[in-house]
Amino acid sequence: MHNVLIAPRKYVQGRNALAEAGKYFKIIGKKPLVLWDSTVKGIVGKTLLGSLREEGLEAIDVDFKGDCTHKEVDRVIGIIKDKGADIAVGVGGGKTLDTAKAAAIETEIRIVTCPTIASTDSPTSAASVWYDDDGNFIGFDCWPFNPDLVLVDSLVISRGPTRALVAGMGDALATWVEAKVALETGAGNIAGGVSTLAAMAIAELGYEVLLEHGVEAKRAVENNVLTPSVEKVIEANILHSGLGFESGGLATAHMVANCLPSFPECHHLMHGEEVGFGVITQLCLDKAASMDEVYEAVDFEIDVGLPVTFEELGLKNPTREQLKTIGDVCAGEGSLCESHCFNVTSEAVVDAMIAADALGAERKDLAGV
Ligand SMILES: [Zn+2]
Repeated sequence: MHNVLIAPRKYVQGRNALAEAGKYFKIIGKKPLVLWDSTVKGIVGKTLLGSLREEGLEAIDVDFKGDCTHKEVDRVIGIIKDKGADIAVGVGGGKTLDTAKAAAIETEIRIVTCPTIASTDSPTSAASVWYDDDGNFIGFDCWPFNPDLVLVDSLVISRGPTRALVAGMGDALATWVEAKVALETGAGNIAGGVSTLAAMAIAELGYEVLLEHGVEAKRAVENNVLTPSVEKVIEANILHSGLGFESGGLATAHMVANCLPSFPECHHLMHGEEVGFGVITQLCLDKAASMDEVYEAVDFEIDVGLPVTFEELGLKNPTREQLKTIGDVCAGEGSLCESHCFNVTSEAVVDAMIAADALGAERKDLAGV
């Protein structure tokens, strides 16, 4: 397998970046289809459409129906063909961005993502996560191309929900922890090869940025202010984590996170919150993890307010039998847990989850929270 790194063609981040959207869009196309929901349009619509108008770009305004389903992508494809759009622009959260990406790939037009929250790895990636009409996760597709432009308005994100930024930190914290184990075993990455030195350096950088600036960034966003720490954490959540996960590799942290939604009690959780618990589980499972590393991750998660116990995930004293449903999927064929250099059994995953919960509870006690 070759070393492969994939990335978007251009990444732009800064205060009021959306006010210059037209300047960036006109380099890649003439007729942007803008996909967003009414809430997002209410927040950034005037700025974005005004900027496009200033540059003489005629926007096709499309209301997003709420989930990245095959039906929704087909609808957007129909509009792209009907109106002759040459760029699909997703503005909002991961589901909107993933829908725009899928529709653009199918119609061979350019892709722009404008995340208005920094909660997942979607903006830079070449992947779309699929849901069925009832909102259940049904899998994902990896497209042959990453977005042509990722335009991040950090002012918009700093005024958005704190919980979303914190969830993004949970997703980003996993990147280095998972990429490291995948590199050791030569497990493949989503880019279709194995990791590069560059992807590893980016993944590690993201981890360091979070430890140094995460708490400060959270405090700033709680007060709706944009500080250098917020800029750095946005970059870690979106750029470092996005490149690091896709070109590094995934492991148990994401596998456990992907299984948690099978419990109805966990439906209220954001992806990054589930991944945060997955990180601690993975560290409790991994023989190679030092205790310093384990405490560092748990204490960071407690400091920023990520869920570290079953109770905080919404699970009240789950039995081994219940947790075994997750363990079995993790130990199954094709699982991301195969990235480890040892065989991951269902029992070991259950033990690690219980150990993670107990560790989270004890570190919370010690921290007095
Ligand atoms: Zn993730």
